[in-house]
Amino acid sequence: MQSGAPSETETLTARCCVVGGGPAGMMAAFLLARAGVDVVLLEKHGDFFRDFRGDTIHPSTLELFHELGLLDEFLKLPHNEAREISGWIGDERIPVADFTHLPTRCKFVGLMPQWDFLNFLAEKGKAYPSLRLLMGAEAWELIVEDDRVVGVLARQGAKWLEIRADLTIGADGRHSILRERAGFERIELGAPMDVLWFRLPRRQEDPKDPFGRFATGRIMVLLDRGDYWQCGFVIPKGGREERERLGLEALRNEIAELAPFLADRVDTLKSWNDVRLLSVALDRLRQWSRPGLLFIGDAAHAMSPIGGVGVNLAVQDAVAAANILAAPLLRGPVAPALLASVQRRREWPTQATQAIQRFLQKRIIGNVLAGAAIETLPLPLRLLRNFPVFRRIPARLIGIGFRPEHIRSPEAPAVPLSPLAGRGCERGN
Ligand SMILES: Cc1cc2nc3c(=O)[nH]c(=O)nc-3n(C[C@H](O)[C@H](O)[C@H](O)COP(=O)(O)OP(=O)(O)OC[C@H]3O[C@@H](n4cnc5c(N)ncnc54)[C@H](O)[C@@H]3O)c2cc1C
Repeated sequence: MQSGAPSETETLTARCCVVGGGPAGMMAAFLLARAGVDVVLLEKHGDFFRDFRGDTIHPSTLELFHELGLLDEFLKLPHNEAREISGWIGDERIPVADFTHLPTRCKFVGLMPQWDFLNFLAEKGKAYPSLRLLMGAEAWELIVEDDRVVGVLARQGAKWLEIRADLTIGADGRHSILRERAGFERIELGAPMDVLWFRLPRRQEDPKDPFGRFATGRIMVLLDRGDYWQCGFVIPKGGREERERLGLEALRNEIAELAPFLADRVDTLKSWNDVRLLSVALDRLRQWSRPGLLFIGDAAHAMSPIGGVGVNLAVQDAVAAANILAAPLLRGPVAPALLASVQRRREWPTQATQAIQRFLQKRIIGNVLAGAAIETLPLPLRLLRNFPVFRRIPARLIGIGFRPEHIRSPEAPAVPLSPLAGRGCERGN
């Protein structure tokens, strides 16, 4: 939080101002700068170190690192590799997705703290003098002239920043302030659940790979993070207060019932401060752009956690935006029709993914949370259990998704520098 009224205003100019240093914003800024576009990225936090965010790096994102020639180096960062995802119903384990047949270089989902992923991109971005990361800089307002967005007003420490740009990319996440300022209409698709996130210690003898546990009225997802489990305990929408009223001991007992191997360590949850709430949202903007402004990633479409595809979609949007916009941006302001074509390219993969998520939310999660007994295994799960070949379908949907993007924006040789280029990463006070 920044306090006190800023006393000075600094004006910067750039071809493109990206707001938000999450997966969408960092990848977009990196690719545009790589193509020689003069980019300023604003990130309101002083660093990328935030816990409980999407930590899955999907095969399609890893493929992009390969296309960028960065894969080997990226994989040197500490990570886990999930080659399969399974679900447990009672004592029965049902393999759901098998990534080992994907037509990608990496046949696994990488599990890595998101800050490592973002720091990696920021570090690699230093090779491009036209990329300027402003940390601790929070966008507050859009600057609009003649009905066109011409930049943003931001606050960094004790000063206002007026960033004037031919294009502003709103990648400020699912609580996007720019989206609100632009008055864009959001289509709410609804979600029947929220998720309680917490960590529990992991032991060597524990099962491997991510998996979900299902029982009547309860669902929990576990992601193997090496020495701990990242656990997502699914509750009915708005149910956190009720859970707190029932007490932490009740939650510990339910976890132990769902996954008995965790019974000996549920006591490591000491208070509700150890339990974070993910308020699940599923929505998308009707329109992703207006002259001078484009939204991508969660700001354009918040995804349900089903399949853990939020990071992947955010990155894919960024790649599509860079592919379409990099060359025109080098020449100057981009036509509204080009911005609309980013939405056209990414809208149906988004809609198709959200349609599947809605179906699963309604048919499986909603029913289980409502207490429907799981007596017989539904047909799709029986097929997945009995015929390994079917496991390639969820693997493809999760690991690659619809319409995977490829790097088409070129890597530019060094371009003439603007006055603000080449200063690397700057932090606010
Ligand atoms: C608890 C949790 C678990 C999740 N698990 C998974 C998972 O396993 N797999 C998966 O794929 N997805 C997961 N997700 C979703 C995933 O994190 C998001 O879909 C993804 O990060 C979206 O990327 P983004 O860049 O669009 O937005 P974000 O990651 O939200 O990034 C937005 C950035 O903008 C910055 N920002 C916001 N407002 C401003 C402002 N005014 N000025 C400047 N900067 C601003 C924020 O600080 C942030 O860094 C999870 C999300 C949560 C909350």
